[in-house]
Amino acid sequence: MSKVAITRTNEDLYKSVGDAIDLIGGIGKYVKKGDTVLIKPNAFINKEEKGFISDPKVVLSLAKLCKEQGAKEVYIGERTPTVFKWYKKEDINFAKIVCFDDPPHNLRTLPEAEVIKSAVPIPKIVEECDVFINVPGLRFHALTIISNGMKNMMGIMPKETTLLIHVSGLEDAIVDLNRFRKSDLVVTTAIHTLVGNFPVSGYGIESNTLIVGDNVVAVDAIAAKILKVDPYEIRHLTLANKLGLGPIDLPEIELSGVPIESLEWREKIVRPVLDYEEFRDKINIIDPSKNCLGCKRAMASGIAGIFEENPKADLKDITVVIGPVEELNKHKLTDKIILFGNCTFPYKDKGLYVQGCPPRANMAKQAIKKIMEDK
Ligand code: SF4
Repeated sequence: MSKVAITRTNEDLYKSVGDAIDLIGGIGKYVKKGDTVLIKPNAFINKEEKGFISDPKVVLSLAKLCKEQGAKEVYIGERTPTVFKWYKKEDINFAKIVCFDDPPHNLRTLPEAEVIKSAVPIPKIVEECDVFINVPGLRFHALTIISNGMKNMMGIMPKETTLLIHVSGLEDAIVDLNRFRKSDLVVTTAIHTLVGNFPVSGYGIESNTLIVGDNVVAVDAIAAKILKVDPYEIRHLTLANKLGLGPIDLPEIELSGVPIESLEWREKIVRPVLDYEEFRDKINIIDPSKNCLGCKRAMASGIAGIFEENPKADLKDITVVIGPVEELNKHKLTDKIILFGNCTFPYKDKGLYVQGCPPRANMAKQAIKKIMEDK
């Protein structure tokens, strides 16, 4: 049975991390003498505000625990050079900091991939490490509702693959990556939790919590419950569960530590904007297909971001087309048209086409801004 533990942290984060992992068997269960360990935080955002990256002190505590356990080498790796900002060589002499944008990589066709069909660059250390420790920060996300361990795996490839993942189909691609590289241990650093309309906006709230576990799907299911989200709402979790990658139902997870209901900071939870119904009278939306929520969520978040910046923004002359549409000309159109997502490709010459499946939420906001400026 998969083990997950929820704990509260105190000022001694090193002890807090060790105590949390003790609840699921102790660090010695995961790291053996002579192992090469790779720790993968979520650390690609270059923002000082709390909650936008995995807590660096938790990551360093974990690295220290691994080294003390006898690991031969400990690596901390992430795409984009921001990893060097958050983990400075002079502060940490017992681990190696690596940026996955830099070589060496192996060009790999992922063996069981459903949507990432082309060969992709995989950092050698991701394949060669004995132990892979996935260290996400806890957050909402406008496209996937939550982002935790499974989505953190997007960062095992160089930055330029982000578009490939979005074009391939974001949530299916997340599952492909998790099938390719299993997380041996997951440590969610919810010291601050990112809530609201992330990644278009969002903000961190203090939460002083760790979620640790031996299965990434189980940890993410518990993370979802902590964020008051039903795991069955999250496509990449249900897909992974169906493929046998891990459990999402409570009876199949051995849960220890503090009860979810005792985490008082959950009262401050604010979900991302996932639906644009409230904006329908402010912008013309054509979305006849009811089957897919990806582009709808991205656009909802983008529109909300526009009104967060300017509550009086005038979007009345903009039409947004989403999902497969038959005979676009039969719909009411305005002068400025955004074709949003790969499904609208057949009409790409009719306006501003935005590629992706779905495109990123920030791309929705940028597209609206761009077309607003067009004369
Ligand atoms: S609407 Fe089409 S392009 Fe958008 S996420 Fe769904 S399948 Fe992908």
